Amino acid sequence: MVLVNFLRAIKDFSLKYRQIIVLAILAWLVWALGLEKQGLILAFLIWSFWAFGLGMLGGWFLARGSLSSFPEIKNTDRILILAPHIDDEVISCAGLIQEAVKIGAKVLVVYATNGDSHLASVLAKSRTFDPNDFIDLGEKRMAEAKEATIILGLKPESSVFLGYPDRGLGQMLYKFFAQETPYTSTGTRFNYNPYKNTYREKQSYAGTNLLIDLNDIVDDFKPTIAIVPHPRDNHIDHKSLYYFWEKLITEKEIFIKEYAYLVHFRLYPPAKKLDEDNFLYPPKQLFSEEGWYSFDLSLEQQEKKLKAIRQNASQLKTIDSSQALLESFVKRNEIFEKIE
Ligand SMILES: [Zn+2]
Repeated sequence: MVLVNFLRAIKDFSLKYRQIIVLAILAWLVWALGLEKQGLILAFLIWSFWAFGLGMLGGWFLARGSLSSFPEIKNTDRILILAPHIDDEVISCAGLIQEAVKIGAKVLVVYATNGDSHLASVLAKSRTFDPNDFIDLGEKRMAEAKEATIILGLKPESSVFLGYPDRGLGQMLYKFFAQETPYTSTGTRFNYNPYKNTYREKQSYAGTNLLIDLNDIVDDFKPTIAIVPHPRDNHIDHKSLYYFWEKLITEKEIFIKEYAYLVHFRLYPPAKKLDEDNFLYPPKQLFSEEGWYSFDLSLEQQEKKLKAIRQNASQLKTIDSSQALLESFVKRNEIFEKIE
C-alpha cells in the first residue's frame, strides 16, 4: 500500500518533474556506489525505461487498473442526472449518456440552475452588472444545453430546467430554506425563477421548493439510477445539490442506485488541457479501493463529448483556463463514486 501511494504521489507530478526526481536518485546512486562507465550506461537505461516505459505502464495501472468497471446499463434503466449548472452533465457523463441512449435506457437531465451568475461571461459582453444581462446569459445557456444534449442523442424533452440561482444553492440549503424567506440572486436580482419554459415558472428561491421539485420529478420519472454531484466537490452548488438529494432520498425511504461525479477539486484533473489519450482517476484524498467506478468511452463517444462541450460555448469565450478545464474532462473514461 505504501508503494502504491508513493507511485500515485509521483504520478501527480508532471512527466518532466518525475524524470528530474528519478534522474537525481540515479545520479546519487552512481555517486554513492562509485560506479563508472558501465554503471552510468545502466543508470541511463533504467532512467529511459522509467521515463518512457514503466512510467506510462504504472500510470495506466494506477489510473485505470484499480477502478471497477461501471455496471452494465440495461434498457429498463431510468437514469436521472442532477446537474447544478449547465455543462456539468456533459463534462461528467457525456459518454454514459450516449451509451444509455444506444441501449435504450431512459435519461432525464435536471439542471438546478442556468449558470446565470457567471460574471466573466456577462462582463465579456457588456461590462455592466445589468440584471438583464444575467438573464440573457441564462436563456442562452438553456438553448446551448439543449443543443449539447441533442449531440449526445437526447431529445429536448429529456432536459428539465429548474431555474434556481447560480451560486445560491448553498444559501437556499442553509439559510433560505423556508418558503417565506426566499433567497435573492446576486446576478439576476430575482428571488424567483424568471425563466420561461422551465419546470415551475416563478417558483421562489427557497430550499423547500427545490426539495418539492426534486420530489415530484422522482415520483414522475421513477429513476433506477441517479448520477449526482459529489458531496466533497469544492463548489458550493455541487455539494449543496448533493445534500438536497440526500435529504430527499432519506425522507422518501426509497432505494435508487447512486453514483457521484466530481468536477471541482484541488489539482483535479491534474493537467488542465485537452488530453484524450489518458484516463481520469480520482484524487488521492478521495480514493478508496472499492468505491470508484470507471465508464470507458469509445473514440466516437469521446469526439461527441468534446463537440458537446464546445457547444456550451457562451462561458468559454471568456477565459481560456475555463475552456481548458472543461476540455480536460474529455478522457478515455468517466469516473463515479458509488454512494452507499
Ligand atoms: Zn457546476
